Amino acid sequence: MEEEGGEEYLFKIVVIGDSAVGKSNLLSRFARDEFDANSKATIGVEFQTQVVQVDGKEVKAQVWDTAGQERFRAVTSAYYRGAVGALVVYDISRRTTFDSVKRWLDELNCHCDTTVARMLVGNKCDLENIREVSIEEGKSLAEEEGLFFIETSALDSTNVIAAFEIVIRAIYSNIG
Ligand code: GDP
Ligand code: MG
Repeated sequence: MEEEGGEEYLFKIVVIGDSAVGKSNLLSRFARDEFDANSKATIGVEFQTQVVQVDGKEVKAQVWDTAGQERFRAVTSAYYRGAVGALVVYDISRRTTFDSVKRWLDELNCHCDTTVARMLVGNKCDLENIREVSIEEGKSLAEEEGLFFIETSALDSTNVIAAFEIVIRAIYSNIG
């Protein structure tokens, strides 16, 4: 897309993972620096756009939220269409959400090609006292599957911007 100030980039990034792992809050923390302790599963916003500078270039990250569809196993192919990045999120305090990661990766691989920049995100790292998944387990799964890995907290903001920026930079260097 050509604009007055030169080139402009638009990257579609999808956020996937089990219900209640914190997908919507990661997005609202990234796009608006907001956290909602009582967030309902369905927010109804399809995506939010955030501008990030990469190598002096303006990149628009269009980050898509499932808006609760994941509860019904009905995340549609339209959701994945055109995605160039993905955050696969689990909750470090609930092992079942970590066990689901492989299923989410399978679904991602069905809809998107392997060049999609992928980040495994262990969210809720503020809940250290009730942790069920160690950092090492997260790291080794990410290594096996060829993903970036980071732990985040949408609650206290730890690594949220970093998670998105690493993916955005990886996409940028893929196309550059
Ligand atoms: P989603 O279903 O994956 O979109 O999850 P939500 O963003 O709606 O979050 C589900 C619940 O987890 C909500 O009660 C949030 O307040 C809470 N939550 C989300 N992120 C965090 C986090 O980083 N730490 C803690 N302690 N709670 C979180
Ligand atoms: Mg949600």
